[in-house]
Amino acid sequence: MGGKMFALYLRAPQFLSLLRYPKAWMYVAVNYQRRSFMASVDGVAEYAFHAAIKPGEDADTWTEKDAKRVFSEAMGADIPIEILSMGTWLAGHALVAEKFQRGRVFIAGDAAHLFTPTGGLGYNTAVEDAVNLAWKLASVIRGHATLTLLDTYEAERRPLAQRNTGYARHFADSVGLFSAKPELDDDSAQGNEERAKASEYLNRHARLEFNIPGVTFGGRYGDSPIIAQDGVDLPPDEPNDYVPTASPGGRPPHAWLEDGRSLYDTFHTEWTLLALGATDPATDGFKNAAQSMGIDLKVVRLPAQQLLELYESPLVLIRPDQIVAWRGASDEDGQQVLSLALGIHRIT
Ligand SMILES: Cc1cc2nc3c(=O)[nH]c(=O)nc-3n(C[C@H](O)[C@H](O)[C@H](O)COP(=O)(O)OP(=O)(O)OC[C@H]3O[C@@H](n4cnc5c(N)ncnc54)[C@H](O)[C@@H]3O)c2cc1C
Repeated sequence: MGGKMFALYLRAPQFLSLLRYPKAWMYVAVNYQRRSFMASVDGVAEYAFHAAIKPGEDADTWTEKDAKRVFSEAMGADIPIEILSMGTWLAGHALVAEKFQRGRVFIAGDAAHLFTPTGGLGYNTAVEDAVNLAWKLASVIRGHATLTLLDTYEAERRPLAQRNTGYARHFADSVGLFSAKPELDDDSAQGNEERAKASEYLNRHARLEFNIPGVTFGGRYGDSPIIAQDGVDLPPDEPNDYVPTASPGGRPPHAWLEDGRSLYDTFHTEWTLLALGATDPATDGFKNAAQSMGIDLKVVRLPAQQLLELYESPLVLIRPDQIVAWRGASDEDGQQVLSLALGIHRIT
């Protein structure tokens, strides 16, 4: 990763029988001459192989013979392959569009943010865009909200795109800037030492890049105008560490219920109001407001103390895209809270 890469999509039915190491999903081969990695596509015979291009090489003109040579160099063996496709791409490159919306036109996914693939974040971020935009479009089309709700798509998603492409670039640097010494594949004491160092470095990198609950679950709509921020101290945004918090703007913390279900299984596909704790908090303020606004709101009553402690408030409003919109103690502001969450007006 880092700079121009040569990509080869190939079929190698003999690869696994010739492999001298345990079967894996991704393989990394590195020495002084070349860095490369290969991901299994079907777990049997198809692979996506990527090799860094060296200064002076023009991989855009490479023939199938060149491709087979580079593949053999990386494998350290002549493994027969069938080439399905080949091309070049730029690793470490990431872009975020300046605008995600103009009038009736919205962009999402790679059209709005182009990732470098380290971390595997492009598709997740694309799906989150779609989920964020979809409920807002539905709300406007159904007449529950005005067009101003649609402006919050860019306001919420663009900062997340910048955050996630930033993490991806950081992971690309972490692996792409690894520099192998000429002695790395020497059969000598120094070779052993270099391999131990490379192993330690790449192992650490793999954990940094792939064990990323903080990136996946910890994204927040911190400055969103349709989130009732409660101003509490938030856990730091760390890629490898996710600390659940029910503070509005982020993902609702997960919990297992006594009957074995996930708390998430109780969430509605539209709006959900969690009513937590043994005191059985009043919810009429929300139910009446939802009814008058034509909003589909499901009230989920869960008396377990542990859930009240996790969410730190007896009432929690969760949006159709499973983001906490508000939390509080009283249902009296139901109308105002729902209006804020739909971009109709701000809480005064
Ligand atoms: C090497 C590599 C590895 C990756 N690994 C991961 C990973 O592990 N995890 C992850 O989450 N993401 C990964 N990604 C990123 C992921 O593939 C993309 O972020 C995701 O596919 C984006 O989805 P999309 O729908 O926005 O765009 P696309 O998947 O590009 O879909 C756009 C579609 O629009 C079509 N199209 C284009 N122009 C027109 C037109 N004029 N008319 C009609 N149709 C058109 C295209 O043919 C295409 O089918 C990787 C990307 C690369 C390059």
